[in-house]
Amino acid sequence: MKNSRRQFMILSAAGACTLALNGTVQAQAMVAETDPQAAALGYKADASKVDKAKFAKYAAGQQCDNCALYQGKAGSPAGGCSLFAGKQVAGKGWCSAYAKKA
Ligand code: SF4
Repeated sequence: MKNSRRQFMILSAAGACTLALNGTVQAQAMVAETDPQAAALGYKADASKVDKAKFAKYAAGQQCDNCALYQGKAGSPAGGCSLFAGKQVAGKGWCSAYAKKA
């Protein structure tokens, strides 16, 4: 009885640490513009730096935080994107898969 309680406490502490570490890692993992998938989509962390000659569909005002695929809140500095699982994109970023949020 005493032994199983001790094991429970150890496992609980280990689980809490794992959750805390996962949260930290996810919060820090930003998509790099040089990431092959990001580069293929013309992703820029600053939408104003989009190559407008190459991506003529880009229009001023389009950015990740008003894209339908953005998972963060509008106005947030960074958030998830369904195209980049496990990483975050900049709220002011843009890529050629941009789709205006309804
Ligand atoms: S799909 Fe939308 S949210 Fe994702 S990187 Fe492209 S513009 Fe940003």
